[in-house]
Amino acid sequence: MTSLDELPLRDDLRGLTPYGAPQAPLPVALNVNENAHPVPEAVIEDILADVAVALDGVNRYPDREFTGLREALADYLGHGLAADQIWAGNGSNEVLQHLMQAFAGPGRTAFGFAPTYSMYPLITQGTGATWVAGTREDDYRITPEDAAAQVAAADPDVVLLCSPNNPTGTPLGLDVVEAVHDAARGIIVVDEAYQEFAPKDAASALTLLPGRPRLAVSRTMSKAFAFAGARVGYLAADPALIDALRLVRLPYHLSALTQAAATAALRNSRTMLRMVDEIVEQRDRISATLEALGYAPHPSWSNFVLFGGVDDPKHVWQELYDRGVLIRDVGIPGHLRVTAGTEAETTAFLEALASIGSAS
Ligand SMILES: *Cc1c(COP(=O)(O)O)cnc(C)c1O
Repeated sequence: MTSLDELPLRDDLRGLTPYGAPQAPLPVALNVNENAHPVPEAVIEDILADVAVALDGVNRYPDREFTGLREALADYLGHGLAADQIWAGNGSNEVLQHLMQAFAGPGRTAFGFAPTYSMYPLITQGTGATWVAGTREDDYRITPEDAAAQVAAADPDVVLLCSPNNPTGTPLGLDVVEAVHDAARGIIVVDEAYQEFAPKDAASALTLLPGRPRLAVSRTMSKAFAFAGARVGYLAADPALIDALRLVRLPYHLSALTQAAATAALRNSRTMLRMVDEIVEQRDRISATLEALGYAPHPSWSNFVLFGGVDDPKHVWQELYDRGVLIRDVGIPGHLRVTAGTEAETTAFLEALASIGSAS
């Protein structure tokens, strides 16, 4: 068999490893922050009816500008946004890739505060740009002053701010976004993949868009919206920034089936999001129980909890795996990350962990 080393691969891709969260068929999968609740039956039927209509015209290319979907996303986001301020892709990862292709790329840099979303360096490198990692305080917070100073020193072409942050769950204040924006000359992306799990009165960076054409706020239907398998992510920004993304996207990148399914799901957003409060309840239960077991959970505004105080994360991960529970070793020493599941899944995780008894 040919090995990768024998192929004329780009020099800057040599030695890299692909994204590889294990996809194991375990009964309790709490490793990639999905919504553990399936789409309600009535919504499935509504989506199927629209997908059937789309199939009827599937011999033709889809609407390249996905106009109906953009209108539905603008409606869902509110904040007075219009369709020409919305972009979408096959997951917010693709939306981030479009941003990197347009504003980073060879000879340029993208910057984020580590530890943060593991796809940022991979998307950066995949588009030929260089990833620059900044630092956080011990509790993973970032102050506006320190953030501005780090960004001014690095002078990146793109800054990625994950709010709340994955894999730590840490909230990010809008004062940090404003400070970073003012300290940077490049594009500022606020990744709000988990915004729906934040407290109801938490302000979104969407409120900062007016007058800031270098700011983009990305969201996804993969987490709160229970639509990970459909692959739909999106962002809001100035119409000029959206125009830049049109230069790099492949024509017809959103299939007619994706557009139909996502638009129908958004029409049912209230039902799609009805499990969010229940998930937040399970998240808070995880944090409280972990603390009682002697672990050190970090504050989370997302649908997962990062916890410290694990003496041997690899061992604990394997012990849980052997008990049918899949969680995530994100590579932070002494830590593991778990997604809030259904009440039953969450109980299964907490009981399995208690039975291992490994808090240091
Ligand atoms: C899960 C996640 C995404 C979403 O990815 P999709 O491609 O939309 O499924 C984006 N950003 C962060 C920080 C995430 O954790």
